[in-house]
Amino acid sequence: APFPLKLRGPVIKGFGRGSKELGIPTANIPLTQLSPPDLPSGIYYGWCTLDTRSAVSQTPTPSAPEPSSNHAVADLAYPKSTTAGLNTNTDTAVYPTVLSIGYNPYYKNQQRSVEIHMLHHFEHDFYGAMLSLVILGFIRPEYDYVSKEALVEDIREDIRVAQRSLEREAYGRWRGDAWLHGGG
Ligand code: ADP
Ligand code: MG
Repeated sequence: APFPLKLRGPVIKGFGRGSKELGIPTANIPLTQLSPPDLPSGIYYGWCTLDTRSAVSQTPTPSAPEPSSNHAVADLAYPKSTTAGLNTNTDTAVYPTVLSIGYNPYYKNQQRSVEIHMLHHFEHDFYGAMLSLVILGFIRPEYDYVSKEALVEDIREDIRVAQRSLEREAYGRWRGDAWLHGGG
């Protein structure tokens, strides 16, 4: 695929499964924002920003479900506030991001979706916020999973891959890209 790929769209309601079941919230943006339409399904990484001026909800993000025998809970600990990822030019927070584009075969979705997990801890939901994304690389295709545990295991590895990749200087430079700061 021709990287970088740039997407932008309002954060909409998904099926409410990302955070509730797995402890990994994914902000969904509408499929219509996806181009090129023939982009392979799979897991990607990149940078994203939020413009929360249009956010509709300030309800606290529900905490992750309690660990139980049939729940795989990812205990991802991101800093609650940090200057890491802060863009020096504009003060806009730029978050490292792992995202999936596809049908999520584990959940047997009928429609393709774009689901964005930002590697940052947020105290509040931000439905309605405008999310801008610069996609820099492909991690892997989508797989079907026999269990939630196996799915979460792969997501955790995806997060490590994304973090390591984005630390490289050539990728870090994209944090300052005008697209992430409201540009066209
Ligand atoms: P939905 O099915 O509506 O997408 P999720 O359970 O996937 O619900 O939760 C996604 C929502 O959680 C996002 O829309 C956003 O408002 C919120 N959220 C909180 N923290 C994050 C994060 N680190 N990355 C993505 N979304 C987050
Ligand atoms: Mg989601």
